[in-house]
Amino acid sequence: MQLLKDTILKEGLVLSDQVLKVDSFLNHQIQPHLMLEIGKAFSRRFEGEAVTKILTLESSGIAPSVMAGLVMNVPVVFARKQKSLTLKDDLWTEQVYSFTKQTSNEVAVSKRFLAPSDRVLIIDDFLAHGEAALGMARIVELAGAAVAGIGIVIEKSFQQGAEKIKQQGYRVESLARVASLENGQVRFIETESQ
Ligand code: 5GP
Repeated sequence: MQLLKDTILKEGLVLSDQVLKVDSFLNHQIQPHLMLEIGKAFSRRFEGEAVTKILTLESSGIAPSVMAGLVMNVPVVFARKQKSLTLKDDLWTEQVYSFTKQTSNEVAVSKRFLAPSDRVLIIDDFLAHGEAALGMARIVELAGAAVAGIGIVIEKSFQQGAEKIKQQGYRVESLARVASLENGQVRFIETESQ
């Protein structure tokens, strides 16, 4: 997605060979116009998948997901990160390890918001090692619902996430694919079709 790539080049900060900071439009301040275009791009890519619901993870997945939900006219659920609870009868929960923060979070979704009849599009802001996306996919499977696909705003293609997701049989669509962050420079994989 050209507008997204242009914005990353203009405003993204390369913190290391592994980490890209985009807090001026996605992770702290949010640019609604760009988010709306991101929502439209997800809607185009998953057209024909009969999506009934979007699932994301708080907090940075919410903005692109809400815009995609608006365009696709489906509800958006965000999984909550929380301390382990003892009482979780009405929740689907999974452990998600964060390589950036080096901690494990329990993420939870109320059983009320996922039904076996749902076809769920999972959306996240970044794809690195695939832990967050695959944790959400496990929750969808626990609920007996179907994963319609996984939509990512920024994929770091030099890490293993996209490969792991494809190996598990899920379709992944990333709007910007970063080939490398070496030497303080963002380089993209130049195969985006939309
Ligand atoms: P994964 O679960 O795929 O290993 O990592 C994805 C999650 O880690 C995303 O939800 C995002 O919050 C965070 N993350 C991973 N890499 C980056 C990065 O380079 N920049 C930012 N801002 N977040 C990242």
